[in-house]
Amino acid sequence: MLKKIVLENKLMMHERYNIILITLDGLRKDRIESCPTLKSLANSNVYFSNMVTVSPYTLASLHSIFSGMYPSLHGVNAYYNMFKFKKNEITTLSQLLQKKGYYTCCDIISDVIIPSSGFDERNIFDEKTVNFNKRHTDLIRKLSDRKFFLFLHYTEPHKHLVDEVIQKYKNKDDAQYYKSQKENNTRYDSYLPALDKYVSDIIKTLDESKISDKTILIFHADHGTSVGEKIGEKFYGVFVYDYTINVFSIMKIPGYKHKKINSQCRTIDLYPTIAEFVGLTAADLDDKVQGKTLSGFIDGSDVDDREAFVETGGLYGPWPSPNKHNVFCVKINNKKLIYNDTPQTWEFYDLNTDPNELNNVFDNNSQEIIEMKKKLLSYLKENQISTKLDST
Ligand SMILES: [Zn+2]
Repeated sequence: MLKKIVLENKLMMHERYNIILITLDGLRKDRIESCPTLKSLANSNVYFSNMVTVSPYTLASLHSIFSGMYPSLHGVNAYYNMFKFKKNEITTLSQLLQKKGYYTCCDIISDVIIPSSGFDERNIFDEKTVNFNKRHTDLIRKLSDRKFFLFLHYTEPHKHLVDEVIQKYKNKDDAQYYKSQKENNTRYDSYLPALDKYVSDIIKTLDESKISDKTILIFHADHGTSVGEKIGEKFYGVFVYDYTINVFSIMKIPGYKHKKINSQCRTIDLYPTIAEFVGLTAADLDDKVQGKTLSGFIDGSDVDDREAFVETGGLYGPWPSPNKHNVFCVKINNKKLIYNDTPQTWEFYDLNTDPNELNNVFDNNSQEIIEMKKKLLSYLKENQISTKLDST
C-alpha cells in the first residue's frame, strides 16, 4: 500500500511535464536493433518490448490509443468506418490533457487518422512533400515555452512503401512479392537510417530547447509491416500475425532509469498510463476505458502478461473486409488463437516453439484451445462484435 502511494505521488509529479507521443508508423519491432539512436533509447529508458496493438492498421490502432478502447467499441472498426468514431460518448486522450491545462497539438497525415476532439492546434502534412525533421523540430521549438501535449505522426516508411511496393506490384502477380523476401527486407531496411536520424533530431531539439528534463517522450509503433512472410499480406491490416501485431513503446521519463519490460501489454494501456502521468487515476477515467495503466510494470508490482485481443479486416488479401472486421485473435503467454470469420477457419500457434507462426496446431479437442476459444468468444461479446459464430 505504501509503495503504491509513493508511486502515485511520483507519477503525479509529472503533471507539470510536457508529453510528446510519436508514432513511428509501421516500424517493425525487430528493426529497433538496426536503428542506433532508437536502440540506445530503448536501452536507457523504460522499454515495453512486448506490446500488442489491438488492431494492426493505422486508423483503428491510433483511435484505440486515443480512447483506451478496442476498435469495435470506439467505432473505427473497419477501414471504411473511419468517420464512425463515437466522439459524443468518448473522452479522448487529447481532451483529458486539454482539461488538465495542456496546450494540445498534433501533426498528422490526415484529418481522420486520430479523433479530432481536444486539440488546440491540428496540423496536417502532405506526405509527398513533407520534411518531417524540420517540421516536427520546428513545432517542438515553437511549443517549448508552454506546457504542451504533442502528437507526431512519422510516416516516412509508409510513403516509400506506397511508392515502391504498392505501385510496383499493382499490375503484377503478387506472388512475385512473396518470393522476394530478401529484396523486401533490403528495401524496408533502406528506410531506417532516415527514421533513426529523425529520432535523433527530436532528442537533440528537446536538449537544445532545454526541455528534456521536463518532457515525457514516447516513441511507439502503431503496427508492424510484412516483408512477405505470409502469402496474402504485403503490408499490414490483413492478418494478425506477430510481425504486425507485436509492437513496442519506449518511454523517456525524467528521473526514471532503464527498465526493459518483457511482459505482454496492449496499446490500449497507453491511455490510462498517460492519464496517470498527469495526475489522473483509473477512478477519474470513464468506465468504458478498457486499457489499464502500465505503471505497475514500471515499478515492478505488476509482472504478469496481459491478455490481448486483436481485431482487423483487410483492404486486400484473401478475404478483404473493409466494412467489418473479420479476423480476430487472443494472445496470452506466447500462445495465439486466431479466428478468420470469412472462411470460418481457426489457427493456433505456440510462439515459444514456433515464433514465426508456421505450424498451425489447432485441435478442437485440446483443453488449452477450448479455454482460449472461450476467451475469444467473451471478447467478441464484450466488444459487441457479430460473426458467423453467432449462428452456430
Ligand atoms: Zn500505420
